[in-house]
Amino acid sequence: MTLLRPPELRFPVEITPPDIAPWRAGNSGVPYFWSYAGPEPGPHVLLVSLMHGNELCGAITIDTLLRAGVRPLRGRLTMGFANVDAFSRFDPSEPTTSRFVDEDMNRIWSAAELEGDRQSTELARARAMRPLVDRADIVLDLHSMLWESVPLILCGPQPRTEALALSLGAPALVVVDQGHANGPRLIDYARFVAADGTATGLLVESGQHWRRETPAVSLAAALSLLLGQGMIAPEAARALQPAAPAFTRPRLARVTRTITAKTSSFAFVREVHGGDMIERRNTLIALDGDAEVRTPHDHCLLVMPSLRTSKGHTAVRLARFIARG
Ligand SMILES: [Zn+2]
Repeated sequence: MTLLRPPELRFPVEITPPDIAPWRAGNSGVPYFWSYAGPEPGPHVLLVSLMHGNELCGAITIDTLLRAGVRPLRGRLTMGFANVDAFSRFDPSEPTTSRFVDEDMNRIWSAAELEGDRQSTELARARAMRPLVDRADIVLDLHSMLWESVPLILCGPQPRTEALALSLGAPALVVVDQGHANGPRLIDYARFVAADGTATGLLVESGQHWRRETPAVSLAAALSLLLGQGMIAPEAARALQPAAPAFTRPRLARVTRTITAKTSSFAFVREVHGGDMIERRNTLIALDGDAEVRTPHDHCLLVMPSLRTSKGHTAVRLARFIARG
């Protein structure tokens, strides 16, 4: 058997980071976050970019909305840039190194961490952003992916969250998961996963971090949410994105197993891409040291396989499509 050798971390950077310096002041009490109330009552939508400093598509989306002067027809629209310190270090010749400064900012969204004694660049920023997160009815967290994959929306298992994710239609694959072993994401924050709550958090993975086509997916997702909430008019969305990417009817998949690498030698035994489906159950897909990783069921969807996984990190999530009426 041949193990798939981890590819080199070399990626073409086809897009340019926006200049976010004009947005530094903010008007929300939090630097780099802007908040506008509409004339009618409605939900408070929070659009977050740069949770990971080198994921440019979300920053391009927010910069586009801010430059266009988008204002909500109802409710409140808050939007901005999260890990600006990591983003400021972005270097197109080494684009993988500016994901974060001290730690992954999307693994610290628990009260224990946010109220704890530990200090880091990312914790300081998350603590500053927390009042916005605590006031939002809907959070859309705009991300992208290192390895090639079909675009998708990640969300928690609450019916309200699944319904909102499917209503976007962009991206057209909704993956319901339970998060990572190594810490809660923003969408795993208590308010968004409370069974009896009303707040929802969605995470959009718009495509490969630095591909030309990725920012359009991110913008389409944000506009679709704002349209669906009655916060912008269809003409305004069309003006912002005359040639929106086409999506098919959204499909829903539920993660059945999150594979976390237990060794430093996790390797796939076949070429994999995010969005691949393995037909047969019990198909060998990877070795984690000596341990085999096999598909637990037929029609097994591979969600965001990481082609270079370190010990303790998520290597791949396996999912099953859910039939919808
Ligand atoms: Zn990310």
